[in-house]
Amino acid sequence: MVVTGGAGFIGSHLCERLLHGDDAVVCVDDLTTGRHENVAHLLGRPGFEFLHGDVSDGLDVPGPVHAVAHLACPASPPHYLSRPLETLQVCSEGTRHALALAHGHGARFLLTSTSEVYGDPEEHPQQERYWGHVNPVGLRAVYDEGKRYAEALAMAWRRAKGTRVGIVRVFNTYGPRLRPDDGRVVSNFLVQALSGQPLTVYGDGSQTRSLCYVDDLVDGIVRMLDSEHGGPVNLGNPDEYRVLDLARLVIEHTGSSSTVEHRPLPEDDPTRRRPDITLAGQLLGWVPTTPLAEGLRRTADYFRQSSGSREDQD
Ligand code: UDP
Repeated sequence: MVVTGGAGFIGSHLCERLLHGDDAVVCVDDLTTGRHENVAHLLGRPGFEFLHGDVSDGLDVPGPVHAVAHLACPASPPHYLSRPLETLQVCSEGTRHALALAHGHGARFLLTSTSEVYGDPEEHPQQERYWGHVNPVGLRAVYDEGKRYAEALAMAWRRAKGTRVGIVRVFNTYGPRLRPDDGRVVSNFLVQALSGQPLTVYGDGSQTRSLCYVDDLVDGIVRMLDSEHGGPVNLGNPDEYRVLDLARLVIEHTGSSSTVEHRPLPEDDPTRRRPDITLAGQLLGWVPTTPLAEGLRRTADYFRQSSGSREDQD
């Protein structure tokens, strides 16, 4: 099993889960947004191999490959906005290399696409048959359109060459191993709440997101990998929160004395987002089970521990 982006937030959890299920895992990552420390505990485990490299340059994995899970891509808005060309490159060339690897081995290929393909959606909740509402020349297009191209490319390989392609559309996900400087809403709010800084709510905070705990998401990814479904299939937790309410919940659950500060809303920030997960239920028997309070508690514990270990090193 090959996991591109395997040292990233979601990728590292997927590697761990696959090893647990007795799969041999080759984790490929260029460590731009992924981190060595996310997989350090897996190094030396039987069946785990780490390859340092950029999948946009090529993907050469010796030995048998029965599946390729293609996760490599910056996923946080500040990260893809600061690497616009690399983001488009990994969605296009990186995806082509990952497809070619899978195809050459007759392997299953799984593309982790994104809810961003729906853009600022005019349909709510979002079903897979909705084509989306994306600004093709906006700042976020490098990610949104990059992933839309990756979907088109994967489907073309499936139709033209018979590659065993599956596509999942990942909605907002949170959990341990998010970088403290990731920039996404849950990591920002938790890091701010735990250090007593004001929580930065962009705009008036009335925009909504639906948040899935990483273990639930990885369970859906594994089910899709183990199937032959083409998708696309939405994977996310349909519990929807206004960003301002999320800030209040984080303050409450961490017992923080932080306040809320409003900042300008980023360009093309989607106003609402919630997955319709009927299809994932029907095809994969998948449903997320971790309540937000429990997921926040585990993620807060992770940030507490990792800031403690960073201080120990200082
Ligand atoms: N957001 C916020 N404060 C932050 C980070 C994000 O209010 O410190 C908002 C952001 O504007 C968006 C939502 O939270 O409406 C989710 O942002 P995130 O970057 O996590 O993911 P997105 O769904 O936008 O890719």
